[in-house]
Amino acid sequence: MRPPLGPAFSTQLLLWFDAHQRALPWRGAPSPYAVWVSEVMLQQTRVESARHYYERFMQRFPDVAALAQADEQDVLQHWAGLGYYARARNLHRAAQIVSREHSGKIPDDPTRFASLPGCGPYITAAVQSIAFGAPLAAVDGNVKRVLARLDADPFPVNHTRAHRHYLPRAQELLSPHRPGDHNQAMMELGALICTPRNPDCPRCPVAAFCTARAQDTAHRLPVREKKQRAPLRHFVSVILVHRRRYLLFQRPAKGLLGGLWEFPSTERTAQETAQEACARYVHALTGHSGAVPQHATQLQHAYTHFRLHIDVYYCPVPSRALQAPTQLPHRWLPLDDVADFPLSSVNQKILRWAQQHNARP
Ligand code: SF4
Repeated sequence: MRPPLGPAFSTQLLLWFDAHQRALPWRGAPSPYAVWVSEVMLQQTRVESARHYYERFMQRFPDVAALAQADEQDVLQHWAGLGYYARARNLHRAAQIVSREHSGKIPDDPTRFASLPGCGPYITAAVQSIAFGAPLAAVDGNVKRVLARLDADPFPVNHTRAHRHYLPRAQELLSPHRPGDHNQAMMELGALICTPRNPDCPRCPVAAFCTARAQDTAHRLPVREKKQRAPLRHFVSVILVHRRRYLLFQRPAKGLLGGLWEFPSTERTAQETAQEACARYVHALTGHSGAVPQHATQLQHAYTHFRLHIDVYYCPVPSRALQAPTQLPHRWLPLDDVADFPLSSVNQKILRWAQQHNARP
């Protein structure tokens, strides 16, 4: 049985938030659009990382109309590096719907807002409470951790039903007077004080309400379910160059990293070495059997469902003809132009390697 905490909890929390919140570009008196963009970016991304992307994105697309009119490639390019590109595509599509069907005004009705692409329960609660004062609790990873400790609740915060489990308690604690600030304060508390490791309980504004603090169990909470490690897949990427032009492919619009551009890559089989896979791939692509790819670097990356190990090769070729023309759009580009295309973070690293090594035969 969880103790009712009453309004004293949110009073203490908001007093602390008013005095200690970080100055962030999306705080102050942001437009609903600014709140929306920031919340979409902050899903799965830390504040420090999101800040730079947010400012760049808002400079390029300052309002719903600018985003709605933009080309998708332009949107992806300004999202590149943040990951989770479906979020950018959904935000773009949602802006087009708002422009077309809501006269450019972001709906202040949670049900209508929730019908837009990418507007799930968290985004809806966060945007509607912060921008319009709707009394909806927003539950992200920080909030789940704070709630788990406040109540010494052992329900795993990474369980598929964790959002459903923690939402009623978050809703019960929510300040009816300042729901948007209350939501932000809970997230800020999780980011600054009730951190994953070493929560700073002596400085915590709600320590008096905290069961984990009273029981001295904060260091053991929240509980996380042990998950199987995502499988490891091995890929080979190749910086294919002819007379200072670099080959780039565009990925299919649907699926992982849809619409982004990348250096040619292939998955290698268990039977071949990375060098063999690269030679086989270059031959299939260009018909040049004499090409000798040179190993450039190795990269690791983790997606939600698998981990990636990539061997990157550098390989000059004697012509730009592709033997097996692919269905995918491709370009041979000067190195300086490659950065103008939306690249995943892995391909940005490959580009940086090429720039640093000034790979220009
Ligand atoms: Fe977290 Fe400690 Fe505050 Fe409890 S007292 S909410 S464990 S920081």
